[in-house]
Amino acid sequence: MSTTMPLPEYPSTPVNVLWRTLALYAGTWTLSLAVLVYWEFRSHHAALEDLMYLKAEILHDNTWALQHWVGGHGGVYVAVPADYRSSPLLAMQPEHRLVTPGGRHLALMNTTVLMEGITDQSAAQRNARVRLTSQEPLNPDHRPAEWERRGLEVLAAGQSPWTELVNESEQQVYRFMRPLQLQENCLSCHRYADVDVGDVVGAISVHLDVSEDFAVHGKAERVMFLSYGAIWLVGLAGLTLTGHRWRGLLDVLRQAATRDPLTGLWNRRELMHKLDHEMARCGRYGHSLAVIMLDIDHFKRVNDTHGHQAGDQVLKELAGLIQAAVRDSDLVARYGGEEILVLCPETDGGVAGQLAERIRRQVEGATILTPSARIQVTVSLGVAAYPGLPTGTDLVQAADAAMYRAKQSGRNRVCTAAAP
Ligand code: GH3
Ligand code: MG
Ligand code: MG
Repeated sequence: MSTTMPLPEYPSTPVNVLWRTLALYAGTWTLSLAVLVYWEFRSHHAALEDLMYLKAEILHDNTWALQHWVGGHGGVYVAVPADYRSSPLLAMQPEHRLVTPGGRHLALMNTTVLMEGITDQSAAQRNARVRLTSQEPLNPDHRPAEWERRGLEVLAAGQSPWTELVNESEQQVYRFMRPLQLQENCLSCHRYADVDVGDVVGAISVHLDVSEDFAVHGKAERVMFLSYGAIWLVGLAGLTLTGHRWRGLLDVLRQAATRDPLTGLWNRRELMHKLDHEMARCGRYGHSLAVIMLDIDHFKRVNDTHGHQAGDQVLKELAGLIQAAVRDSDLVARYGGEEILVLCPETDGGVAGQLAERIRRQVEGATILTPSARIQVTVSLGVAAYPGLPTGTDLVQAADAAMYRAKQSGRNRVCTAAAP
């Protein structure tokens, strides 16, 4: 016998289509969730940035309002604090120190000094620092830090507010600056400088430690990723389960569509399908192919004598016997009522004739035990081989004609179709 060659796969079986469809669904599902996660991630970040901006803006605006109010009232008198340092600019103002009739010592505080005292206290509570700063400060304490210098440059170029988010000593820090214009009431101190009302004299800078906001945000982000991950897995598990269920249903459908229910052999429709496929392959690669048509002799008599159920059992057992006698690569199909066709790829007429003879002998020697009788049957077989016949139908017809000749010649024999 020639070497066994696996039959080519059908290009697009329903199972392939099913898995391809599910793979497409899984891809779409993954992509949709990825887009959603990305969108959520971006919205979370935007919300966090808005929050930081809002916090910084509130601190800035409060500071500005305080400064404006104090300045508008020409400064405020406070009881002389223990750490009171008289500013040289304030010292130039008349009545910068007073003693009340009751003997209390008061000192005049301008907006800047007062504001610093207040914001320093609130800053400690809120992890925030608010300062007045300027490229050329009157008070050397207001000299800009390196980042404030950069901010001042940007503000000077007309862009306001200036913000940045940086990592500073393992802390997330948000920085915010807005320009500060000279007000009428600032002139009491600034009159010595070469500036007019409305000029930008510096900026209010806000330095916010936002590590805590980031920690909360990170936690929310982890929960979001985990939730989406879980939803993604549930979706994939659902698709896989659906796939397996559909696959089971497809197997049942495929079985029903391609197999003969009594014998379990391929049905005629599937046989012709496979035959066409094999013929195409043979035509392309010049391989040989043979078919054997088998018909049970006087089967009507078996039915008539032993009943249809016994006839069914004979058919079933003969199918098993033939299936066992052929190679794995051969295809056995129920062609008609009690006609069985064997399709032998990579087999020429001579080898197929030998196989047919072996089957004939095995059937002749077999006894089928039914509840009521021991039945023995014989079969007539016709063999035809490719090349020589143009189509699968021609090949089957030639095998059928040869089988008919075997019947005519006395049954229980093999006839081979003559090469055309
Ligand atoms: P021959 O040797 O000329 O083939 O004689 P035969 O009696 O086998 O031929 P015929 O075609 O006259 O009869 C075939 C019979 O096969 C007829 C039908 O009752 C029987 N048959 C076909 N399919 C089945 C089946 O599924 N079960 C049973 N029990 N019998 C079947
Ligand atoms: Mg028959
Ligand atoms: Mg028949």
